[in-house]
Amino acid sequence: MEPVYSRIPVSDAGGMSVHLPVVDLGPEPRRLAVIAGIHGDEPSPILLVDRLVVALRDIPLKAGIRIVAAANPPALMQRARWSNWDDEDMNRVGNGGGGPALTRRLAATLCDVVEGCQLVVNLHNFVMRTPLLAIQPPAQDAERQARHKRYLDALDPHVVWVFGVSPEDVKVFQSSIDAAMESRGPDVLAVEMSDLPELDEPLLRRSITGLLRLAALTGCIDAAGIPAPKHNAVFVNRLIIRAPGAGIFEPIAPLGGRVAPGDVVGHLIPLERPGDRVNVLAPKPGWLIQRLGQRFVRPGDMIATVGLAL
Ligand SMILES: [Zn+2]
Repeated sequence: MEPVYSRIPVSDAGGMSVHLPVVDLGPEPRRLAVIAGIHGDEPSPILLVDRLVVALRDIPLKAGIRIVAAANPPALMQRARWSNWDDEDMNRVGNGGGGPALTRRLAATLCDVVEGCQLVVNLHNFVMRTPLLAIQPPAQDAERQARHKRYLDALDPHVVWVFGVSPEDVKVFQSSIDAAMESRGPDVLAVEMSDLPELDEPLLRRSITGLLRLAALTGCIDAAGIPAPKHNAVFVNRLIIRAPGAGIFEPIAPLGGRVAPGDVVGHLIPLERPGDRVNVLAPKPGWLIQRLGQRFVRPGDMIATVGLAL
């Protein structure tokens, strides 16, 4: 099925027009939406949706799939998490609240273009090396929870990050664009993965296969021929380990392995004191679900997360 490319006008300010680019595949009604590029410094989801469109070219579609590959063009132009035109995080402005700032208008338009779909997959990547990771949001009603479980079964991620249910966690989720899209009807599945160049072929294949299973689950394609899920996901809360200073982080503990308190996750090589490495330790028992490769870090940067068993 050949994709149809279109652009939804968002804003025309000072002679510069901003559009939300949309790709449609298959016949009406539209059942599935896949979104990439809400954060402008996350290239992996864009690569993933390219692979998805190419894969879908050879598959007969029974219902429509809408893809937004570049949901936040100003941030993508700046290759920044958010654009400095208004310094707003598109993932955290809800439906934009009718605000005039560009990021808010983009959020409102995004909520419009996914309306009517059964499911929206919101793709992101971390700088930290991350397996295929899906988010289990807080405060879902029982019916959404049951549907969410089926989406997780179909995506078949390595890890499910179960959001906390404290009032603070619920507040964070409720300010998200995911909550805003859900308030318009669709279910939303937020998915994380590794940054480029660490998005390797096995992870890409697992991600694409998961998206195709979601397309089948929502009635867009036939399920025949899609590999069965492995169902080996771990469900965890996420404990962040941050860089204790500036320097170069060097990982030691293997990604996905179990860690005990005091295990050395990696070293921080201080900029001015070569040879005087600082051990970065696991604070609690769990699985090392994310960690940086070798790279510069600033004090407080996320360098690893421990998945705590529920
Ligand atoms: Zn993101």
